[in-house]
Amino acid sequence: MNRIKIAIETSTSCIGKCVGCALTHAQKSSIYPAIIEENLLNFFSKLEHFYNQVHTSTKKEKILVIELVIGEHFNFSDDYFHSLFLNLKNFLLSTEQQFIVAISTSGLLPPNKMEPKLKIIHQYLNKESLEVHLVCDLNLFSKYNEKYEESILLFKQYFSFLNILTNFDNKISLENCLLLSKFLSRHDITDLQLVYGLKNHNLKMVGESKNIFFDIYKEILKTNTTTHRHIDILEILNNQFTTDLEIKEHIELAVDNILLNQYFISHEGNVHYFLPTPIGTIELDSRAGFFPITNIYQEDSTKIYLDSKKNLIKDLIKIYSQNTLCHNCDFQKNCYSYGIPLLHKLFYNNNKCNNPLLSFFEHQNDLNFSITNTLNDWKALN
Ligand code: SF4
Repeated sequence: MNRIKIAIETSTSCIGKCVGCALTHAQKSSIYPAIIEENLLNFFSKLEHFYNQVHTSTKKEKILVIELVIGEHFNFSDDYFHSLFLNLKNFLLSTEQQFIVAISTSGLLPPNKMEPKLKIIHQYLNKESLEVHLVCDLNLFSKYNEKYEESILLFKQYFSFLNILTNFDNKISLENCLLLSKFLSRHDITDLQLVYGLKNHNLKMVGESKNIFFDIYKEILKTNTTTHRHIDILEILNNQFTTDLEIKEHIELAVDNILLNQYFISHEGNVHYFLPTPIGTIELDSRAGFFPITNIYQEDSTKIYLDSKKNLIKDLIKIYSQNTLCHNCDFQKNCYSYGIPLLHKLFYNNNKCNNPLLSFFEHQNDLNFSITNTLNDWKALN
């Protein structure tokens, strides 16, 4: 892992209606930025302190990726954009690292509303360090196709990296996969994230539909090689622990990765774990029923955050020992590497596997097949 990824909750407002969205209706209806303008300076100075203390030794070798998430950002005022990117840039410079900044959008606003904001961003950051996170509504893809097309053409002028995300729950359908797949190919988009927005208000819907992740992904791969992700997915190995010592050592390494390579910070400054899976990161935040580890405004936030390592190791070992399904599972090592069993806390039945990647683990060969046939399928369809 050569990146440190920090997701900052700068927007909870959105005009989209994606199924499986992590945001509640009340949050989406707000027209205000999640971190108000008056708080930006303080927020980023606290983040600077937290970040530079957590990553004292290894940060020079890594690229810092800041993701401004979760909702629509281009609804906010020009003044807000100036303030946000000025403070963000000062923070980035303080780290003395290479960086990439990603910003999320529904892609549903008219280009003439978004372009002035994009020009403001360019006053602070170069195109080469910018990435857009376009959250597409797969169920309504045919309805919004033209809007997405217009938006992506605009984003290509301002962002070097294009990333498509799509949310999931039981109500997602395979119907528009081909359209999305063609969209990815047409615009050379090589990163697709399947968002497991597992939250209290949609827990049942998302929790029970884990196979759909694989079905959608496979459907899209039939005509498109979403390269970044499927290489990660294909690297998943069937791997079991052989000794108790190996379990402990493996979990310790996994926890170092979870703690030091990515985290989610809410607009209030609460720090939450952000699980790194090959299909996309999963935030364990308060919407999903998890308590914050610490808060960047707290005096000893760094110490509390780093000290949480012991409890995280203990939690994962406890989950493993109590969850008999895991004992004979062929995918233990990969699953525990990503910290996925921590999601068990969310489910009612503790002895049931709710790993959203299980189908990926079980059907890797099918994905291999899809990839080798990609070109032929694509030619046949066009
Ligand atoms: S949570 Fe599921 S995939 Fe992970 S080790 Fe346990 S049984 Fe296997």
